[in-house]
Amino acid sequence: MTQPAGLIAPGTHYEPLIGGKRRSFTGETFLAIDAANGGRIATITRSGQAEVDAAVAAADAAFPAWAATPAPQRARLLHRLADWVEENLTRLAAIDTMDIGRTIFETPIDHRIAIGQYRFFAAAAMTHFGWNQAVPGGWAIAMREPIGVVGQIIPWNVPAIMTAFKLAPALAAGNTVVLKPDENASLSTMELCVALAEIFPPGVVNVVPGFGDEAGAALTAHPGVGKLAFTGSAEVGRLVAHAGAERLVPVSLELGGKSPNIVFPDVEDVDRVVDNATFAATYCNGQSCLAGTRLFVHDDLYETFLGKLRTSFEAVRLGSPSDPATRLGCLVSAKQGERVLDYIASGKREATLVTGGGRAAVDGSERGYFIEPTVFETANDTRIAQEEIFGPVLSVIRWKDYDALIEQANDVDYGLAAGLYTTDLRNAMRTASRLKAGSVWVNQYFNLVDGSPFGGYRGSGLGREYCAETLDMYTQLKSVVLAEELPPPLFG
Ligand code: NAD
Repeated sequence: MTQPAGLIAPGTHYEPLIGGKRRSFTGETFLAIDAANGGRIATITRSGQAEVDAAVAAADAAFPAWAATPAPQRARLLHRLADWVEENLTRLAAIDTMDIGRTIFETPIDHRIAIGQYRFFAAAAMTHFGWNQAVPGGWAIAMREPIGVVGQIIPWNVPAIMTAFKLAPALAAGNTVVLKPDENASLSTMELCVALAEIFPPGVVNVVPGFGDEAGAALTAHPGVGKLAFTGSAEVGRLVAHAGAERLVPVSLELGGKSPNIVFPDVEDVDRVVDNATFAATYCNGQSCLAGTRLFVHDDLYETFLGKLRTSFEAVRLGSPSDPATRLGCLVSAKQGERVLDYIASGKREATLVTGGGRAAVDGSERGYFIEPTVFETANDTRIAQEEIFGPVLSVIRWKDYDALIEQANDVDYGLAAGLYTTDLRNAMRTASRLKAGSVWVNQYFNLVDGSPFGGYRGSGLGREYCAETLDMYTQLKSVVLAEELPPPLFG
């Protein structure tokens, strides 16, 4: 299969970035596959213990100088990285579209969010100090210090955003990094290595592509790693947390969601609520930890709303990911496609199918897993309403009683995000405070704002990203207390 001219030259092989150089010690490789047509795009080194050991050693060697680099200089380099992404955005976005099947409408947005992250943390680095105060006879100082080598593991759904979410705060705070991209979505991160090698001193950022149970497991278990940061499934998140517990190193986790999106009966513009609820469930092909996948619709407008929702889902344009008019591309892999189809089969047994419910064929992209935008009417306790599907599948749940609604909205293992639509400000604030979710959006789902905390309650993980407080997770606080004088002698 061919790929769009000029994106990645035929025969390209990507090696890990270790100590500022592209190096590998194993002959093992894996393939990057075009998600839509199954074509071979490039080969990538399948990093193992040797690559991870070398990367951690390089990061460890680079740490003292990087930690001592003044924050304005670290910030300057993060801005250079952001500039590079800006200059290369069109190409990087096209590579992601080919690699993961997300639409060319969406992938540039990922890179713009990534640029925002590099710039946000460049600025935040310069204001992230501890504190000091004069105390009787001296001073008390709390100093922020970077932790050391950080091991970071990211998933495939939004590779540019994930890379930036992990690199930007860790580097801004003065840590060095070993990053493992996802085996299904490494390409744009491997391309970014060109800039990382040019901009940062050798060893400050190291990238070890490979598989989870090899490079990923080696990284989480490595004694030279002082902090672990992971985004992905709850199952692997627990393994990472155990690895951190073994060595007593801090762990931050972002593990997905099953977010409620609530429609109150006072909404005025039902059509626009329907449109936003459709977006909440289908953006990113539904492969988003934030997706609004449980839509609670009030009884008063339920029938009207459901009819409009069906029409809206049926209007979502599914097609080739590289067509700018497409709004729903294909899922990242056959494995993910089969997983989503299995959930749909389960939905057909336990719930009522409203629309969609199958795999769609797209000319020229026969190998891609295109899933029809799918709506089920269901109760909150079904499998499709409780488990993260990571496909364009929405569970609609009818509600009448406010307290029962809140109970059901919170009755799930996750707590990453929630949405609600109302014209009553007091209702919005009361409901937001009762929802067990790290982010609550009122009247606009996915309303991400640089600097707003992002992270989950309960099974959605530990820690907050995207915000100034993230730097707390990447630093230690040291207390230094200075006395002006020696104390009076106690013993004679
Ligand atoms: P995963 O958790 O297996 O993979 C995420 C990352 O973890 C990848 O880089 C992978 O290589 C790595 N990994 C896997 N096993 C590992 C191990 N033993 N040690 C260290 N690292 C390891 O996710 P998946 O299987 O690709 O997706 C399964 C489901 O997870 C999805 O359907 C979705 O529900 C959820 N998911 C959530 C997110 C999110 O943003 N929270 C992202 C991707 C997937």
